[in-house]
Amino acid sequence: MAKTAVIKYFEDKCIGCRACVAVSGNWVENGEKVRPLKTKVSGKEIGENKKAEAVCPVQAIKVTEK
Ligand code: SF4
Repeated sequence: MAKTAVIKYFEDKCIGCRACVAVSGNWVENGEKVRPLKTKVSGKEIGENKKAEAVCPVQAIKVTEK
């Protein structure tokens, strides 16, 4: 079975830098902040969301693999 991951976004921490948008198609602009299109991803989508998690300077993104 393909791996899946759950994505959490902590909007209160987000500073709207858009680093996540630059590295992952799952992250889109939302006013001054951003939002994930999907909060459950699988397969190769996990990697790009982990990149978004890694580049976020304020740990506003958490990707938990199942
Ligand atoms: S990288 Fe982090 S702080 Fe920057 S827009 Fe994305 S969630 Fe917000």
